[in-house]
Amino acid sequence: MRQVAIYGKGGIGKSTTTQNLTAGLAEMGKKIMVVGCDPKADSTRLLLGGLAQKTVLDTLREEGEDVDLDEILKKGYGGIKCVESGGPEPGVGCAGRGIITSINMLEQLGAYDDNLDYVFYDVLGDVVCGGFAMPIREGKAQEIYIVASGEMMAMYAANNISKGISKFANSGGVRLGGIICNSRKVENERELLEAFAKKLGTQLIYFVPRSHDVQKAEINKKTVIEFSPEVEQADEYRALAKAIDGNDMFVIPKPMAQDDLEAILMEHGLMD
Ligand code: ADP
Ligand code: MG
Repeated sequence: MRQVAIYGKGGIGKSTTTQNLTAGLAEMGKKIMVVGCDPKADSTRLLLGGLAQKTVLDTLREEGEDVDLDEILKKGYGGIKCVESGGPEPGVGCAGRGIITSINMLEQLGAYDDNLDYVFYDVLGDVVCGGFAMPIREGKAQEIYIVASGEMMAMYAANNISKGISKFANSGGVRLGGIICNSRKVENERELLEAFAKKLGTQLIYFVPRSHDVQKAEINKKTVIEFSPEVEQADEYRALAKAIDGNDMFVIPKPMAQDDLEAILMEHGLMD
């Protein structure tokens, strides 16, 4: 079983990419569980057809400790098992706690069964701290992908996340598998992200184009792969799934200084 964490700045496209990518893996016959680790609890919406998944934390709050697996785990597209950690009531407590509670709960209830090929954690955050580091700190996820784009703040966040990863990688087994570019149609974006990934000591594992088909599918509460399997964007996600399934480059990232990041932007990004 490969356990994979997807990190990246808020709004960059982690949940969209994770769900389309896992739908692609499901098409290949892989058995998958997706664990949403974002208090927004929208990491599995497209796989579940919009079905509002009750979060682990809400279930615990309402029903106490005596929770059954089928209350917090729902099967979605392609048999993908979907879980949402949820978050504390706004303003109360650390949002990362939900992740720790959820993973412990899933373990206790036997959700990590031997038939699974993949577990994906969709984790919010510009930095890897506290509870949000849980999937990698405790050696749950061995493999990380960072979703980024050619926009400076996305790369800045990706570099910060790499700092967190390198810290945990030095003491544990977690490795960076690559950068996924979710395009914002920034000038020279692919080259920019390739240079950025190289400087981090990793690879640009895939370049996902920006496409209206993503929004069309989203309005219909589905992944592109389910809603419009014949469009080009569906093939992009299938190719991303293949790239991850066949990936064999796992590194401890070398985060860069702010000056180096700016130099890459100056050299490869076309400033206008
Ligand atoms: P995150 O989980 O990182 O916060 P989301 O996956 O929710 O981000 O994506 C934010 C928005 O960006 C979504 O509404 C989604 O429709 C849009 N989006 C993501 N990827 C693409 C893409 N490749 N093309 C077009 N729109 C996209
Ligand atoms: Mg999300």
